[in-house]
Amino acid sequence: DKISPFLDPGPCTKPNSLAILQLSRDNLLPVYLQVPSGEHDGYAEGAVVNTRFGSFPHSTMLGVPWGSQIRASKVDTGSRGRKRKREMTDDPGREGTGASGREPEDLAGAANGDSVVAVKQAVADSSGFIHILPPTPELWTTSLPHRTQVVYTPDYSYILHRIRARPGSVLIEAGAGSGSFTHASVRAVYNGYPTDGQPKGKVFSFEFHEQRYHKMKQEIADHGLEGIVQLTHRDVYNGGFLVDGKSPEADAVFLDLPAPWEALPHLSRRKPQTSRDTSDPTTEAGWVSPLNPQKSVYICTFSPCIEQVTRTVSAMRRLGWVDIDMVEVSNRKLHVSRERIGLNLSSDRGVNNSPRDVEEAIARLAEIESRFREHAGQPRRADDNRDSEEEEDQPAKKDDFGAKRDVNFAEDQSSSSTPPWMEGRLITRGEPEIKSHTSYLVFAVLPREWTEEDEAAAAAMYPCGM
Ligand code: SAM
Repeated sequence: DKISPFLDPGPCTKPNSLAILQLSRDNLLPVYLQVPSGEHDGYAEGAVVNTRFGSFPHSTMLGVPWGSQIRASKVDTGSRGRKRKREMTDDPGREGTGASGREPEDLAGAANGDSVVAVKQAVADSSGFIHILPPTPELWTTSLPHRTQVVYTPDYSYILHRIRARPGSVLIEAGAGSGSFTHASVRAVYNGYPTDGQPKGKVFSFEFHEQRYHKMKQEIADHGLEGIVQLTHRDVYNGGFLVDGKSPEADAVFLDLPAPWEALPHLSRRKPQTSRDTSDPTTEAGWVSPLNPQKSVYICTFSPCIEQVTRTVSAMRRLGWVDIDMVEVSNRKLHVSRERIGLNLSSDRGVNNSPRDVEEAIARLAEIESRFREHAGQPRRADDNRDSEEEEDQPAKKDDFGAKRDVNFAEDQSSSSTPPWMEGRLITRGEPEIKSHTSYLVFAVLPREWTEEDEAAAAAMYPCGM
């Protein structure tokens, strides 16, 4: 079995393997690195990633340690520059805003016309850079091609913990959608390739949309996950969760479906008595459960509306699930920094700490220098005259974008022995925008069944009643 780069990326980038290019903080681009064949597009350097930060031939990104900074290529044939302009125009969504690399500003203008010389010059002047990162479920969630709404990291990390997904677990997932949750669950259940007798962690994934199924199948193969994810093209409301007529023997379940209550009857230990099953000729004795008979099964359903939650909970109760509860993950990012004494927080600039004018900037710099000198044991200079009396410390209600944010201040504990970087009050600001698919998570447990035989086996194992 080929080991997936998601599970073991190794120390360096490899040919024909997935890498995540970080163009700027939130602008990630998944790329399969190709070995230059000399044939690709007719250019010697082979495939090239063209971005607003410059051109990056795959050849410059192969065999480098993960996390490396890659500089934009200075090589250009002129016609590639024109091609790049076309690609950049065709794909504006890939253009970042905050640059990790410097944008070759004159490139677009140069490539607009037919001046090959101008394009060459623009490329030569380019000093843009990107970083090359190993694929992880988190980076894949941020960069994957969206075919549906996806489950984001704050939700799936909590869900996987609650459904006890761990190395060796067998997890049922429906629907697969864009595969965001699938990648995270694979990492959770993966336990290498165990020797005989040990359970092999596996994800049984189901998707009824044909195109999504095929796309996902291809991705699983491309990511080297075929041995760990088994994808089935199926409507689980009608077809249930058996694979080739056999039970996956799952101990964890995640349902991201519009109507989880339609799928729940199939996740029973015995043939459920529901209207759907009246046409099912299988007898109670011939019915196969997709669940592990030896373990309690942990489930999570993911639904955006409370009405869906109500119906799901009601079906769970009828089908014998216990410990049912609902959680909404309300994730917030906190920006933590130190605000030095001297910040005029009562001004209409809110918590914006930018100096008002050049004079204020110079005064602040002098103050910082003075504190550094003081910390280094040097005396304050006569012109180190800024004192805290001119400051007022009032929490602001708005930041400089006018957005309402929570601003929390901790007491300033600074003293003369405090190093400069520890001075000031610790401030946390909540960021209002966070990418998280807000849904209600319903959790429940289906206890394992305990038979007379189990009782006898337990008694034999622990004769003293332990
Ligand atoms: N959890 C996925 C992710 O993180 O990328 C997103 C799932 S998406 C919101 C829901 C998926 O369920 C869709 O792709 C849809 O086609 C699929 N689906 C809906 N009803 C289904 C059914 N009865 N059987 C199987 N899949 C179904």
